[in-house]
Amino acid sequence: MQKTEQEEKSACCSTEIAQEQTAVSCCSNKDAQTEQLADPGDIKTYKVTGMDCPSCASTLEKGLSKREGIQSVKVNYAAGKMAVGAVNADIFEAIPGYVKKFGFEAEPERPARDARVYQVSGMDCSSCAATLEKHMTGNPGVQSVRVNFSTGKMHIAHTLTDEQVIKEVQKSGFDAKPATLRNQKKEAQQSVKPLPITTISGLLLALGFIGSFTAIPDWLVTVFYAAAIVIGGYKPARSAFYAVKSRSLDMNVLMVTAAIGAALIGEWFEGATVVWLFALGNALQNRSIERTRDSIRSLINLTPSEAVIKTAGGTVVKDVEDVSLNDIMIVKPGEKIPLDGEITAGLSSLNQAPITGESLPVDKEPGDTVYAGTVNESGSLEVKVTRLSEDTTIARIIHLVEEAQEKKAPTQAFIDRFAAVYTPIVFVLALLVMVIPPLAGFGAWGEWFYRGLALLVVACPCALVISTPVAIVSAIGNAARNGVLIKGGTFLEKAGAIKAIAFDKTGTLTEGKPKVTQVITLQDDSETLVSIAKTIEEHSTHPIAQAVISYANERNIASKLGSDFSAIAGKGATAVIDGTEYFAGKPKLFSEMGISTAHIDERIDVLQNEGNTLVAVGTRDHILGLIAVADTVRDITVRSIEKLKQAGISEMVMLTGDNEGTAKKMAAETGVDRYFSELMPEDKVSAVKKLQSEGKQVAMVGDGINDAPALATADLGIAMGGAGTDTAMETADIVLMADNLEKLPHTIRLSRKALTIIKQNIWFSLITKLAALMLIFPGFLTLWMAVLSDTGAALIVILNSMRLLRMK
Ligand code: ADP
Ligand code: MG
Repeated sequence: MQKTEQEEKSACCSTEIAQEQTAVSCCSNKDAQTEQLADPGDIKTYKVTGMDCPSCASTLEKGLSKREGIQSVKVNYAAGKMAVGAVNADIFEAIPGYVKKFGFEAEPERPARDARVYQVSGMDCSSCAATLEKHMTGNPGVQSVRVNFSTGKMHIAHTLTDEQVIKEVQKSGFDAKPATLRNQKKEAQQSVKPLPITTISGLLLALGFIGSFTAIPDWLVTVFYAAAIVIGGYKPARSAFYAVKSRSLDMNVLMVTAAIGAALIGEWFEGATVVWLFALGNALQNRSIERTRDSIRSLINLTPSEAVIKTAGGTVVKDVEDVSLNDIMIVKPGEKIPLDGEITAGLSSLNQAPITGESLPVDKEPGDTVYAGTVNESGSLEVKVTRLSEDTTIARIIHLVEEAQEKKAPTQAFIDRFAAVYTPIVFVLALLVMVIPPLAGFGAWGEWFYRGLALLVVACPCALVISTPVAIVSAIGNAARNGVLIKGGTFLEKAGAIKAIAFDKTGTLTEGKPKVTQVITLQDDSETLVSIAKTIEEHSTHPIAQAVISYANERNIASKLGSDFSAIAGKGATAVIDGTEYFAGKPKLFSEMGISTAHIDERIDVLQNEGNTLVAVGTRDHILGLIAVADTVRDITVRSIEKLKQAGISEMVMLTGDNEGTAKKMAAETGVDRYFSELMPEDKVSAVKKLQSEGKQVAMVGDGINDAPALATADLGIAMGGAGTDTAMETADIVLMADNLEKLPHTIRLSRKALTIIKQNIWFSLITKLAALMLIFPGFLTLWMAVLSDTGAALIVILNSMRLLRMK
């Protein structure tokens, strides 16, 4: 049975409450220590039982708020929780008494010890996740719980011990383990065990079937079938029991009912077949799903579990979890980097493909950052540890990927709503079919009972429910292995629908490391000019500033004593030197201050058309000179743009604050279709809006920091260089870990393919269901065919989705 929207909502509400609770618990501890009144606005949460209608919640809410000292009351009917804010801690004691007067029971919640994550194994159908969720919710020590079938993860806020949680999970027929990185690593090394139960049940079924053609007595055949049912059906029956207990109607319930029903009317063979096919289907589905879940576990296994640490006397091998910050690791050629760090000695090239997906190794020198999981290819390195094992870039990627995989895509939300209505309707229909026609005198009871059972089986939309999530988990897993972080199904779906892509020029299409190509003085010597420019630019973060500083450093030109540094967004920067205000920036900056540039316009034009960006340096009165700076377009950019065109992106646009001349030249070099130049930072937002107003779904690619507003405006924000910056990793919708566009075409193709596969899955599962429904009434559909159409279709949907894992 799938989660209804209400349950969804309640799950998040309760998490919220649980969080509030943890926050509050510290306050109340403090109160207890100081024996003081609670701070105004202190909040405590209660579990409320006995509310059997949503209106009870509002009655209670209204009633309680009238009490003196109570500041706020929020009752969540679906979650059975209540949060009360009061001025005085004593009031909290009295709350259960007040609540009793309304006819309900309130019990203060113990603070959630921790929101923990467990890895659950043995869930072989999506309804199992919902069943487990409901079962766990019923435990008083559990504040909130969320189980994700596709990733096999259970997020739970509880006050129990690990053992208690594991035991509780076992009751509903699954196994749980705290999902620490270490555990997951172990998990990934174990292979999936074969399921002997399915085999035994199948053998018994076969024995019975063969026996029915021989001389052995009929009762013995029945015994074989019955044994097949009991052995194969034990696990589903146990799950069904807990499902019914928590009032959900999941496929275990439906299948078990069908099998029992079949036995009741003497159709032992049918019953055994139902059980066996169901078990087989589940076992196969489970195996496939495990492979999907492995796509992330393989990332975890990238990092070595030990590191060689330099000590005063030599070296020592340590478990990565025992390494401290600032320890020096020794990494030999051919070895993997164990933890994120900064190179302190040695030169090497590193294969960063595991993290960034880049096909070429990257040269690194002292001062550069290296990432855990990447491979040191040539030289021996000494690396200072900058991040502990749970905090490395790869650990964060894994964490973000897992979060992303659990987010619901819009299609999935829609399907879940559909399934929530479909199952009960078909269930009721099945009951009616069993009763009405025979009552009305059409045919025998047995015949219609059988049809009703078949209808019960058809009532699980299993294939439909997993049509989307498995595809999304596979696609996101594939992307992650290629150095691309897709932050959820929503963005995957959006990326599949993108028609236009806007690129920021500097640092996205170009190298982002401009170099000074020419210095033109109009008054003083060039050294003075460069020195003034350096002084101003030393306080700027713009890539152009870096070019000027490097140029000056190479020539040993020192900066002057400056003050009042400030940036002029999208134009340049300024500083005061010796009491005079100096500026460095685009020529337009000076013409806007009323300084004529007529005498140099021609030279400016020529240089710009050659692809240079000009930095004019001067005061409020006159221009002292020009520094020409040029950035190179990367080969990988040109190739990626080409591939994006092949992938069918119809419009690629370059956005830049740079001048028209340079923009035009760069646009031609990169192969983009269109460019917008001389944009102020806020104009980049309007440029994106303009593209959107032309009726296209627009993605924006930028560095994620300077371009944040434009990234946010676009339908899809894609940040580059995610491995280097945490903010980019956390804010964009899609993050390219590498600092280049190499993997963007793959991402777009992958997303499109995911959309196609999701559509195929949905249609396929709907059509098989429909076909099964139509075959029931003429009486063509046997029980085993119904089960096969259900579990078989689910399996096909999973296998189809898994094509996304392998896509290159
Ligand atoms: P872009 O990212 O496309 O370069 P920006 O808005 O960052 O766009 O900058 C626009 C233009 O302003 C640059 O092309 C450059 O001409 C000028 N500019 C901005 N900051 C500086 C600076 N610190 N020094 C010199 N020129 C600058
Ligand atoms: Mg920029």
